[in-house]
Amino acid sequence: MSQKLIPYGRQSIQKSDVEAVTRVLLSDWLTQGPAIEEFEKTTASYCGVQHAIAVSNATAGLHIACLALGVGPGDIVWTSPNSFVASSNCALYCGAEIDFVDIEPTHFNMSVEKLQEKLVSAKKAGRLPKIVIPVHFSGHSCEMKRIAELSKEYGFSVIEDASHALGGSYRGKKVGSCEFSDMTVFSYHPVKMITTGEGGAVLTRSSDLAHKLKQLRSHGITRETSRMEDESHGPWYYEQTSLGFNYRMTDIQAALGTSQMSCLDRFVSRRRELVANYAGALAGLPVQLPSEADGVSNSYHLYVVKLEDRIASKRRKIFESLRADGILVNVHYIPIHTQPYYRKLGFSAGMFPESERYYAGAISLPMFPDLSDKDQAFVVERLKAALERE
Ligand SMILES: *Cc1c(COP(=O)(O)O)cnc(C)c1O
Repeated sequence: MSQKLIPYGRQSIQKSDVEAVTRVLLSDWLTQGPAIEEFEKTTASYCGVQHAIAVSNATAGLHIACLALGVGPGDIVWTSPNSFVASSNCALYCGAEIDFVDIEPTHFNMSVEKLQEKLVSAKKAGRLPKIVIPVHFSGHSCEMKRIAELSKEYGFSVIEDASHALGGSYRGKKVGSCEFSDMTVFSYHPVKMITTGEGGAVLTRSSDLAHKLKQLRSHGITRETSRMEDESHGPWYYEQTSLGFNYRMTDIQAALGTSQMSCLDRFVSRRRELVANYAGALAGLPVQLPSEADGVSNSYHLYVVKLEDRIASKRRKIFESLRADGILVNVHYIPIHTQPYYRKLGFSAGMFPESERYYAGAISLPMFPDLSDKDQAFVVERLKAALERE
């Protein structure tokens, strides 16, 4: 008999999702149809924001968010080293220069103190960033109010990489409200909070940015006569006024997305139940457990335990013993600046030590709505056993 495998994250699909997708498959529109607008409206209204633009994935969303703000060669973008490479690659796609701000040791988000220090020295050197991309690691919002204050003082724009944080909130508002940013990007990859297979969205309060995002998503083309440079030739006429991409989401995906949105709050509360179980069962072990700052409600895309520094050297053994038990733990994230590609850009290990210290001890435990109490208890039992052997 093959061993049961427990992943660290996975989608949760119901019959209603299958029915929603089937309806679109049998309709007239598989792409560029009404399901997109419905998903965008659902997303925007959930987050309390004016505009949501659905895209093919969050990576594409981050790319066009940067372009909509005019990022190009000669510009500088800063993000967190404790993220998926897409958070920084987006700047490189635009020909901009990337740099990182080290994390804080509690929630492993970009440190606002370090951001401020770096801004002070960047100002002196005449190398201020055009954009800062805070990443809400694990679904725990960054200190957006303070970041927004710094953005006014130093004149940079803010794109929230909220790939983990759909369903979370900050100071009483849903992540995605863009109260403290220019744009927010979500990912709908299957391990994230809801899924569309592949997919993403960019949210904004600005109608100007929304218009630019829509154009960039679809070849740089507009069909709105008021936005055209020339006289319309007739009803078939469209104009390409900028260089865009095909970063569209299909209606098949959007229908799945709308259906998944109706489950989001239930997904988040089940995740939070699992967090409470873990917190009770893992208390007293030599690991740092997730916590929430005042005013933050974490969506808990990830549940990371960080081994205390004195046992961090055992991380690999503990990780491998959990994997041998069929528990598909993972590690989020290898600090971006230590990747070979980034080393070729001039970065090296040691540059953002807090992210490296965090990485050395981090293990992501299974965390997804369909994880059963029984499987979770097995994870706890095996983790305890592995820690006891060390
Ligand atoms: C998943 C993820 C992305 C990329 O999302 P895709 O939809 O797969 O392109 C970007 N940033 C972070 C922090 C992520 O976790």
